Amino acid sequence: MSHSKHTRRGRSYYLEKWNRPAKKYVNTCAICGKSGYSPAVEEESFRRTAYGMVISRELKAILPLMELDSLGRCPDCAAVHEKVLADVQKKMRITHACGA
Ligand SMILES: [Zn+2]
Repeated sequence: MSHSKHTRRGRSYYLEKWNRPAKKYVNTCAICGKSGYSPAVEEESFRRTAYGMVISRELKAILPLMELDSLGRCPDCAAVHEKVLADVQKKMRITHACGA
């Protein structure tokens, strides 16, 4: 099959070639690049439409639910990021206490 290489990972073929409008309901983490479907897909007003029903079914079949925060981070990265920031802030406070 000449097109089998495109369907190997299903998800990208579906989103890139077949259902571009569905892409706006896919969240991609700004840090790790992981994708998941947007919580908007779960909303009843969205799923009530024929278009929404199809998209919600298709996206849920290939992706996990993934919420992004205001900085475009997935919950995993946000947790790591916050921890790193907290550590840096702690170190800075210690430096200030000693140096100033
Ligand atoms: Zn992430």
